[in-house]
Amino acid sequence: MDSTRSRPSRFDILFEPVKIGPVTAKNRFFQVPHCNGMGRAYPSSMAAMRGIKAEGGWAVVCTEQCDVHYSGNHLRELRLWDDQDIPLLARATEQIHRYGALAGVELAHNGSYVPNLDTRAIPIAPSLAATRGNFPVTARAMDKADIRAFRRWHRTAAVNARRAGFDIIYVYAGHDMALPAHFLSRRHNQRTDEYGGSLENRARLLRELVEDAKEAVGDTCAIAIRIGVGTLVEAGGLGPRDEAHDVIEMLAELPDLWDVNLTPFEKDGQTARFSQEGFQQEYVKFVKGVTTKPVVGVGRFTSPDTMVTMIKGGTLDFIGAARPSIADPFLPRKIEEGRFEDIRECIGCNICVASDKLSVPLRCTQNPTMGEEWRRGWHPEYLPPKDTDDTVMIIGGGPAGLEAACALGKRGYSVLLADREREFGGRVLRESALPGLATWRRVSEWRLGQLRRLPNVQLLPGNEITAEMVLEAECSLIGVATGARWRDDGVGRAHRVPIPGPAGLPVFTPDDIMAGRLPTGRVVLFDDDHYYMGGVLAELLVGRGCEVVLVTPDSLVSSYTQNTAEQGAIQRRILELCADVQVSTTVSGVEPGAVRLASVFTGRERTVEADAIVLVTGSQPVDGLYQELDGLADGVLAAAGIRKVVRLGDCLGPGIIAAAVHSGHLFARTLDTGLTDWTPFRRENVELGWDLPLPPGSETLRLLGDGATHG
Ligand code: ADP
Ligand code: SF4
Repeated sequence: MDSTRSRPSRFDILFEPVKIGPVTAKNRFFQVPHCNGMGRAYPSSMAAMRGIKAEGGWAVVCTEQCDVHYSGNHLRELRLWDDQDIPLLARATEQIHRYGALAGVELAHNGSYVPNLDTRAIPIAPSLAATRGNFPVTARAMDKADIRAFRRWHRTAAVNARRAGFDIIYVYAGHDMALPAHFLSRRHNQRTDEYGGSLENRARLLRELVEDAKEAVGDTCAIAIRIGVGTLVEAGGLGPRDEAHDVIEMLAELPDLWDVNLTPFEKDGQTARFSQEGFQQEYVKFVKGVTTKPVVGVGRFTSPDTMVTMIKGGTLDFIGAARPSIADPFLPRKIEEGRFEDIRECIGCNICVASDKLSVPLRCTQNPTMGEEWRRGWHPEYLPPKDTDDTVMIIGGGPAGLEAACALGKRGYSVLLADREREFGGRVLRESALPGLATWRRVSEWRLGQLRRLPNVQLLPGNEITAEMVLEAECSLIGVATGARWRDDGVGRAHRVPIPGPAGLPVFTPDDIMAGRLPTGRVVLFDDDHYYMGGVLAELLVGRGCEVVLVTPDSLVSSYTQNTAEQGAIQRRILELCADVQVSTTVSGVEPGAVRLASVFTGRERTVEADAIVLVTGSQPVDGLYQELDGLADGVLAAAGIRKVVRLGDCLGPGIIAAAVHSGHLFARTLDTGLTDWTPFRRENVELGWDLPLPPGSETLRLLGDGATHG
């Protein structure tokens, strides 16, 4: 890594140390708590990921939320119910401290946000309340003894957090997810005692939790409040009007740090489709006016100039980041060293959020090493030098081919990267031209920027590669990254065989539309893909004057986007834009001038008039070149000096851009993408628990345990 270059002096302000109560952050880069799908299930993966952030220069690295008690149990996150959980957390703090960062922990109790399906504890809330979502579980109202007990649990967790090595301890009152936030909210809190009614009463618990933590560990640990602002009552905010301002004013000097963001999470973690960099500024800028304590806020900050404006303009003291730190764990160091062109900017797609929602290790469209730090030993900045004599040809410069060429080039391989188009980028170029997806272009831009500085990589745009050309290329390893195309026969999830009667009506695919071949008039858009494509095409077609009837077999529009926290916003937009939206409905046939629809439950059919149908269904690999090379007679490849032909990206398995980038990176690291007989990554097995000490009075269990142990 080139650390000899220096940054322009206007960025120096980002590298000033900032005091947070009894501790000092070495600069203003603050990785705020963020979920990652690893938590307690993949502790070493989580610890290694946090350590990499610290290595990348973040002055503060926080964990995700950490439950203080089994009555507020968020299955995917960390826990600190008692000292049995300390070693797992200490693994993370050790990694964070290795690089001189401060370690923060977000202590949490989810109250009525969680149904406690695992622990079976009846959830607790300020007032009797149904739990979130559709779980048939009701949270009971806490009595005074419960409140005292909760304070005790929180305080004990703070003490154990210090024992685990944390420097900053959060009291979490954000996102409408946490018990202290529920006490603050008129919507959740209908109590008539000293914890309900006036704002002062509703804020009592939050105040007590901070005071308890300060009293217990505040001499050496900073105590932070994380709170959500800027929302209306129906979105789960603090009251009939946004009372967050008043709470922050009331408790202004109480914590050592204010971490302020939007509530609920869908507002805080908005995708680029719905928000710009710095979108939270107008909601949080008041905070510094009411407190002398440092303030951290977020807003998908990737531009160093925007960061400086946030500090100099008096909005923030710390540049908070979750997603930008995932896309580029080395963001601070790159700014510090003036290597701005190396910053791998977050594209705001929320595939990271989806990993957490789906309880799998964090992944990122821009950073293929994310979540793979421990289990595969992948570092986001350092690649092992080449260990074979291969020269590599990659055909296809979409996200898979670009990433493969980039990472192979950095390993020192000699690489040819060819694409038939005059501009590299493949699907990223096409898709980033769709409504709201402009930032996605960063996926190809960053890689092209890196590639242009690698003398051992030769870029060959405007070259349609044939099998003969491959044989003449004098390369020993061939990567075929020729992508995928959308199907035009309707085969996908609802239809495993083609939809009957396609000749009756003009049929369009997303590829047609992205290539500028657009339908006109009344269009049925059949979305059996369920991610972003159907929704953005509907937006595009309405913008071009079409009347769009969106049909989807799922009960929600773009249903996968529930995982990327944008489904509600998308459905709202689609309902506003489209002439009609038919959910739980499939296309059963196509006729001249009409499309036959059928209920997915009853099969009952009806016909809607249409001038065209757009099929957003399955995709097929563009693997003709691969098949041709694979089908060559024995010895032909060897005679051309080719030892292996490998498919990667969408050509191997059509999917999301993140998967294509990961596939390209895997190819660059292992020179293959095939399945292996051995498991190519480390696993962390749970420790069998029979030998652990049991609570008093558990004699029966002890006997059962002995029995199980002895046979
Ligand atoms: P992925 O997501 O797997 O990277 P893309 O569809 O984005 O796939 O990119 C595939 C790229 O391959 C496209 O840019 C396309 O132009 C290019 N391509 C496909 N076939 C050939 C070929 N025979 N020669 C050169 N380029 C090709
Ligand atoms: Fe940003 Fe997307 Fe990566 Fe998340 S997955 S950090 S939103 S680029």
